[in-house]
Amino acid sequence: MKFGTKVIHAGVEPDIGTGAIMTPIYQTSTYVQESPGKHKGYEYSRTQNPTRDALQKSIAALENAKYGICFSSGMGAIDAIIKLLKSGDEVISIDDLYGGSYRLFEQVYVGFGLKFHFTAMYSTEKVAQLINDRTKLIWIETPTNPMMNIVDIEAVADLAKGKDILIGVDNTFASPYLQNPLDLGADIVMHSVTKYLGGHSDVIMGALACNDNMLAEKLAFQQNASGAVPGPQDCFLVLRGIKTLHIRMQRHCENARHVAQFLVSHPKVEKVCWPGFETHPNHDVARKQMRDFGGMISFTLKEDSMEAAFRILEKFKIFSLAESLGGVESLCAHPASMTHASIPKEEREKIGLKDSLIRFSIGIEDVEDLISDIDQALS
Ligand SMILES: *Cc1c(COP(=O)(O)O)cnc(C)c1O
Repeated sequence: MKFGTKVIHAGVEPDIGTGAIMTPIYQTSTYVQESPGKHKGYEYSRTQNPTRDALQKSIAALENAKYGICFSSGMGAIDAIIKLLKSGDEVISIDDLYGGSYRLFEQVYVGFGLKFHFTAMYSTEKVAQLINDRTKLIWIETPTNPMMNIVDIEAVADLAKGKDILIGVDNTFASPYLQNPLDLGADIVMHSVTKYLGGHSDVIMGALACNDNMLAEKLAFQQNASGAVPGPQDCFLVLRGIKTLHIRMQRHCENARHVAQFLVSHPKVEKVCWPGFETHPNHDVARKQMRDFGGMISFTLKEDSMEAAFRILEKFKIFSLAESLGGVESLCAHPASMTHASIPKEEREKIGLKDSLIRFSIGIEDVEDLISDIDQALS
């Protein structure tokens, strides 16, 4: 099945009881048993729920995976992976990692005896240097937030071949429409479903997908044992959102291409980070592993100050100033004071995250309106 057919049909069967074409919201905590242990495959909704099952199958299909496992948030999904590790194990990750992941690693799991290394992962040599016998997980994010760096998933996965190291990829920014990490050698793919998969800024959810039976069993065990499961209503909303993922992504990418080109030629703009430019340092890798370049763009101003960025951010009429991304509406954000405020200024600047950096999540509105909004805000 091709992608556009999978988003509509994968995982979704007409309801057995009624024939309802849309998976019902099975708003129930428990299931009646005929005699102890004799039931229809469902006992308790933390463990299994039919609405969640449909969604898990759908997400698995989109990532070319055998198994999908959903969580109550993206962070809950990452947490389940880290719990596969034990004290003394080491993790290698990227130096401009999603802030929430950085916080989970450094402020929660360091206390449990895990060690995390953060490196410029687009250089495979730097990753190779950090690998040792204690390395159990390489945690990739690509494209990165907010610098839009690209990591070569296949090259990093090759480093772990034949070693007891899991390769996990946070695929939130790309969505399964643009990139399928399992096909490139990763073991686990993770999504903040909150973003492009949900697509309508109305749900918080996370998901994992993998092919290995043992790994899936361990992750499903974590899902049930720790219990960070999504509710059936949210699963329904995401099932609905996924049906338009392909057409939404096409428009996100197309609009972002126009906006990136507009920004590059604007006299007040210093630098535009978007992997679609041939001048982007990892453009070739992006071309190789992604089907298009996505809906995320960030840029800096020639006048590099928080005040200059704030003045512009206050002027937008169509773009809303908010955290998050991947919804149908366009958002703007100021990473230095919002998502990355907890990172010291010197650390931020090491990765190029300047005070004037503005990030866009380009929505699916008419692009002419988006560009005139940016134009009026910049001037
Ligand atoms: C939002 C986000 C997360 C966390 O997901 P939640 O659903 O907010 O818990 C993780 N990684 C990336 C790249 C994100 O954008």
